[in-house]
Amino acid sequence: MSNIWDIIIVGGGPGGLSAAMYGARSKLRTLLIEKAKPGGQAASTQDMENYPGFAKGTTGPALMQAFADHATSFGAEIMRNEVVSIDAAQKIVYCKDGSQYQGHTIILSPGAIPRTLGVRGEQALRGKGVSYCATCDADFFTDLDIVVLGNGDAAIEESHYLTKFANSVTIVVIHDEGVLDAAPMLQERAFKNPKINFIWNSTIQEIKGDGIVEGVVLRNIKTNETTELETNGVFIYIGTIPLTDFVKGQVNLDSRGYIITDERMETSAEGVFAAGDARVTYLRQVVTAAADGAVAAVAAEKYIIEEEGFAESVLHESRPVAVAFWTPMIPKCIEIMPVIETAIAAYGTQAKLWKLDTYRNQRVAKRYGVVQQPTVLFFHQGEVVNRLGEDEITPAAIKGILDSIL
Ligand SMILES: Cc1cc2nc3c(=O)[nH]c(=O)nc-3n(C[C@H](O)[C@H](O)[C@H](O)COP(=O)(O)OP(=O)(O)OC[C@H]3O[C@@H](n4cnc5c(N)ncnc54)[C@H](O)[C@@H]3O)c2cc1C
Repeated sequence: MSNIWDIIIVGGGPGGLSAAMYGARSKLRTLLIEKAKPGGQAASTQDMENYPGFAKGTTGPALMQAFADHATSFGAEIMRNEVVSIDAAQKIVYCKDGSQYQGHTIILSPGAIPRTLGVRGEQALRGKGVSYCATCDADFFTDLDIVVLGNGDAAIEESHYLTKFANSVTIVVIHDEGVLDAAPMLQERAFKNPKINFIWNSTIQEIKGDGIVEGVVLRNIKTNETTELETNGVFIYIGTIPLTDFVKGQVNLDSRGYIITDERMETSAEGVFAAGDARVTYLRQVVTAAADGAVAAVAAEKYIIEEEGFAESVLHESRPVAVAFWTPMIPKCIEIMPVIETAIAAYGTQAKLWKLDTYRNQRVAKRYGVVQQPTVLFFHQGEVVNRLGEDEITPAAIKGILDSIL
């Protein structure tokens, strides 16, 4: 068996585990590398109530164990290790212990972590009133009083969401009165919401509570004066940090470090895909990470089929190969294809025709600069030696090129 894996997945949260399940189920040799216990952030929350089909009572660890079991049941291998860098062109991942693994494709799903405030009480009361995810935890605060720290889009939008559950939401803002970083529309909505009030020029200095959040110590950043405020919960929205340092320079990231992908989850590097919280995306949840993982694995499978098929049938072929880029959606392609077939058939086993549907195989067309269909590229010993554009394809032109090669 080859030492090259079909898919190497970095990160064993819901994105990576879902990709592993889809990959292994398609009979692809799938290796998932996870630096900790599989499950990712989702395994760090006890109450997981919004994964479709799993109502109240489902825990994050249980759901993630089910994800992992599902992936391994189809043959995916899960390995504990930390990936410290990748070579996107060679599809190699390098691990902290010095080992390295090569794949035909790589799926990056390292997740993102909420930026923490770093104040006293924050770590000890995490999950006991301190939260970083309103979508996840809001309903645990029904009819209670909550403090939110932050004033960007996420803080203001999530505060509004929290008012559907909470009795009151107090937003602690570092700026002067009336100044928020959130989009104007979100600001307007927050200012009008009777359940939301603001404390300006302030930050949280300490979170207090005996096993559960009971209050916060606020500090006015202008006067340094501290005050205590009773509260049942603290939601912290001061940004998230994608864990993408190890792919810097290998795939394109946005200004905040999130991986940029297209709708097939492919990154700027061919055959390298990304899924979940680490990519530029609108919603960061288990269900979206899992969906990304499925798309990435299917796209990786298509990539392998496309690349291997092309390499075997065209690049490694000793005879001249005429590659006809076509699509049945363009009438001219349907009209001209019999002409191409007849012209090549006249050479018997001396030459070969390879039809490439550009609708399904956009990547190969793009790589060889094919923008019009039909186009015929003539390959010999792995290289393009000639080409015929849409209006140049005639039996005589095809014969002229094949004769010159043979
Ligand atoms: C406290 C909390 C509660 C939440 N509650 C909910 C909820 O109720 N419902 C919901 O839908 N969502 C919830 N979320 C959000 C949800 O957990 C995430 O959206 C989801 O886990 C993202 O999945 P992911 O696979 O992209 O990344 P992650 O879950 O972050 O998994 C990434 C994995 O990659 C590993 N990793 C990172 N770098 C490397 C490396 N270099 N080498 C090897 N491994 C690496 C990490 O150890 C991690 O296990 C919650 C998040 C938090 C923090």
